[in-house]
Amino acid sequence: MPLISDLLFEARAVAQSLAEYASGPHIRLGVTGLSRAGKTVFITALVEHLTKATSPALRGRRNTLPVFRVHAEGRLIGGTLEPQPDDAVPRFAYENHIAALTGPDRRIEARHWPQSTRRISELRLRLDFEQKAGLRPGRQSLAIDIVDYPGEWLLDLPLLSKSFAQWSREAFVASASAARAPLAAQWRGFAVSTDPRTKANEDDARGAAELFTAYLRACRADEYSFSSLPPGRFLMPGDLEGSPALTFAPLAVEEGEIYPQDSLAAMMERRYEAYKAHVVKPFFRDHFARLDRQIVLVDALAALNAGPAAVRDLETALTDVLAAFRAGRGNVLSNLFRPKIDKILFAATKADHLHHTSHDRLEAILRHLTSRAIARVELVGAEVDVIALAAVRATREAKVNGHGGPALEAVIGTPLDRERIGDEVFDGKSEAAIFPGELPSNPKLVFEGEPLAVMADQIDYRFVRFRPPIPARGQNGISLPPPHIRLDRALQFLFGDRLI
Ligand code: GDP
Repeated sequence: MPLISDLLFEARAVAQSLAEYASGPHIRLGVTGLSRAGKTVFITALVEHLTKATSPALRGRRNTLPVFRVHAEGRLIGGTLEPQPDDAVPRFAYENHIAALTGPDRRIEARHWPQSTRRISELRLRLDFEQKAGLRPGRQSLAIDIVDYPGEWLLDLPLLSKSFAQWSREAFVASASAARAPLAAQWRGFAVSTDPRTKANEDDARGAAELFTAYLRACRADEYSFSSLPPGRFLMPGDLEGSPALTFAPLAVEEGEIYPQDSLAAMMERRYEAYKAHVVKPFFRDHFARLDRQIVLVDALAALNAGPAAVRDLETALTDVLAAFRAGRGNVLSNLFRPKIDKILFAATKADHLHHTSHDRLEAILRHLTSRAIARVELVGAEVDVIALAAVRATREAKVNGHGGPALEAVIGTPLDRERIGDEVFDGKSEAAIFPGELPSNPKLVFEGEPLAVMADQIDYRFVRFRPPIPARGQNGISLPPPHIRLDRALQFLFGDRLI
């Protein structure tokens, strides 16, 4: 028999669909990825391109979105920002982000990357276009609701079917791996010396949660770049920053054992269950379940740069993320939500760090990392594609003479202040030619039968962060959308079929 909560959910979903139907054709596009994957930069660039694509300031210039068909065919009338439909969700701060990217003046050091995603936010963009001759001719519009949310939150989905004891056991096992153990030492020391039967007290709960969170944070640092680190809100608390809802941590509890009501174990278990009921479930029900399309941004280069353990961990995280897209299709989560996402794009970001000869290779690596998971999602009818892109291209390419040897393929940009390669430290103002190294030419062969570790070891890759580029100016001094790599291909995949 359906639960009351299910009936309420159904009723709410029907009301929502009716309201959305009344507001005309629209798509809800989810933009996700782990922190620093490039969500904020992607959405900002997307909006900047689509709101300016047909601006008079760009008249006479080369079309920078040639693969985005509605524009290439001259049918795009224009893109406009509109009030978003959900009053309870914060608005994506597009204006602040584009101001940071373009900077107040033409000094390179006046440009900054925008503030990264820390919680869910939303923005509505309306595209007006001419329909193709032969279909119903005439003007049409499509409202695109862009929903930006931390990918860490998707990693919470598996918790819904795990007890506190199961989750504790898995957290202990994960933290014992050679790569993680040194980072987890303090928390593990505390956890194993704490008797779960001890009387519940706030100091122990807070102490354990702080040490556990510190361990998860250390795992995300550049040199480790681990990805699979639930619970998601410990790293990306959103509005729960400092909230008691996050004051729990795994304990050395035995599965199946009953702990006294007033014990630390019972208190931690109650908080873990409350986290699932009041934080995880509402996110999936109220936000995730309403998405139509999804782009998952992946900083594969950071993982490759950090080494084999990070690459393996990224693969696990991507598989967990994809599990969310299958959830609700005939499994224990069907009562919670039924995702209706019909297109998913995996995008390896920051391709501008590499020479273009490696862009396809980056794409192939991401395709490999997601292949197991993609096969399962395709089974449930979603169309999936993989791409390597740079929403904002901060570099240009050049051949640089290699001290009497053959010319080397380099990327040139302005590395951020204090970035370094070996002994060289950059000042954030001067351009530098970087030889990023090459990704393997045939990842399939390298991967075949080989653990990913072997593959990551072979990568000769050097990674520095660059400043955003100085924007070109069009008529009336209006800044033009930033250069990109394959952003138009992503747009075509994500909503080209709704713009014909
Ligand atoms: P979020 O946490 O997913 O919102 O990540 P952001 O969009 O804030 O991106 C994190 C950082 O990655 C930025 O501050 C930039 O340093 C870098 N980044 C993101 N996108 C690009 C890109 O297209 N090109 C380059 N060169 N760097 C990027």
